[in-house]
Amino acid sequence: MNVSAFYRFCSRLSFTILVLISCAISIHAADKVIVLKAARLFDGKSKTLAQNGVVIVQGNKIVDAGNNLPTPTDAQVIDLGDATLSPGFMDGHTHLTLDFSGNYNERRLKEVDLNVSEQAILATRYARATVEAGFTTVRDLGSRFVGSKEFVDVALRNSINKGVIVGPRMLVATYGIGATGGHFDPTSGFRDMLFGHEPDFSQGIADGPDAIRKAVRFEVKNGADVIKAAVSGGVLSLADEVDTPQLTPAEMAALVDESHRLRKKVAVHCHGDQAAKEAIEAGVDSIEHGSFMKPETLTLMKNKGTYLTPTLMATEWIMSKIDNYPPALQAKAKAAAAARSDMFRNAVKMGIKVSFGTDAAVFPHGQNAKEFKVMVDLGMQPIDALKTATGNAADLFGIAQKTGTLEKGKLADVIAMPGDPTADITATERVSFVMKEGKIIRNGPPSAPPVAVSADADPEIPAD
Ligand SMILES: [Zn+2]
Repeated sequence: MNVSAFYRFCSRLSFTILVLISCAISIHAADKVIVLKAARLFDGKSKTLAQNGVVIVQGNKIVDAGNNLPTPTDAQVIDLGDATLSPGFMDGHTHLTLDFSGNYNERRLKEVDLNVSEQAILATRYARATVEAGFTTVRDLGSRFVGSKEFVDVALRNSINKGVIVGPRMLVATYGIGATGGHFDPTSGFRDMLFGHEPDFSQGIADGPDAIRKAVRFEVKNGADVIKAAVSGGVLSLADEVDTPQLTPAEMAALVDESHRLRKKVAVHCHGDQAAKEAIEAGVDSIEHGSFMKPETLTLMKNKGTYLTPTLMATEWIMSKIDNYPPALQAKAKAAAAARSDMFRNAVKMGIKVSFGTDAAVFPHGQNAKEFKVMVDLGMQPIDALKTATGNAADLFGIAQKTGTLEKGKLADVIAMPGDPTADITATERVSFVMKEGKIIRNGPPSAPPVAVSADADPEIPAD
């Protein structure tokens, strides 16, 4: 090929590429317009519901949202009738790869009995149940299998993002970071060295500021979107007290500094008051649970702008199934349950920032919305409860630019529930329409059977 022929070839090639690109753009621009209509609309941030709600969707985005908007010509109209449109709910605290909801000892045995791949397959059902319940985004705060170093939460997130399976958008934490013998030590309660070695940073167990930094770096390297750590004891762990501090202020400072340098938010599991105070001072982004926090600690939170993720459903469930837990855990659960109602009432009165979060896995996946009623029963206005799971959660997650409200340009994560949730908050438990990024996941009854959990019967394991 001579030089001028070569240039002719190149110009023809670039013309062809341009035509192909413009075709792709025009196909994208011609995405079908879908108009969602319902009697009411909650936009994720306003103080009241709008009447005659309309959300106009094209591709994966919201083109417009409001009330009484005109319907574009040739649009597909989905009229949901006497319902309320809302941004997809967000749960700031799930464990989609796990299920702790049944008998505690049976669950522990199952965890070491089933191979991790099989547990990952079960997790795909938990993910579907969650998104079909209207939760289009979750922060998944810790996934680990004793004796294993798999990153099942990362695999679940990626498979959802690639459209291989159906589930919510996930921000995953990989292993929760914690101290030797602390709430997150997966070998606590088992015979010493049963698994051949003490867990280390590669399973989230770290002692001292440098080891904490290494654990944060290791988790980000392996796909963590958010960093989770246990700074106090917990209810469902066998070797600690529920409210003792488990990281030192120097360890917390290293945790927050390293995570924030890597632009990751820090969520800390914390029941105890002293640990909460130290964590808030260290600059964590959210306190998860917070059961024993005293008013002066809440004041500190308010001044620092720290979020509370209350996870009230976790204690509700444990208390309703208390016989499922060993006596030592029953005592811890009772103490946490007795303290957390006053803590939450105080937090509401003081105007602490609250992000919705449930600890799903402690109770069966897909029942996340029951948290709303518990919050309202403890003094929160229904409209504010709805905000915790939409605008507030998006703010805490650091994704408010993309989602969390029904506004032009945001991702089309839209759900509908019957009636008026500000008049009956349990409407949130009956979500009937779910759209995620413009794709309809559900319109009417759930498309999958309810997820089987180990609560009372467990079809995954033969009875013999
Ligand atoms: Zn949790």
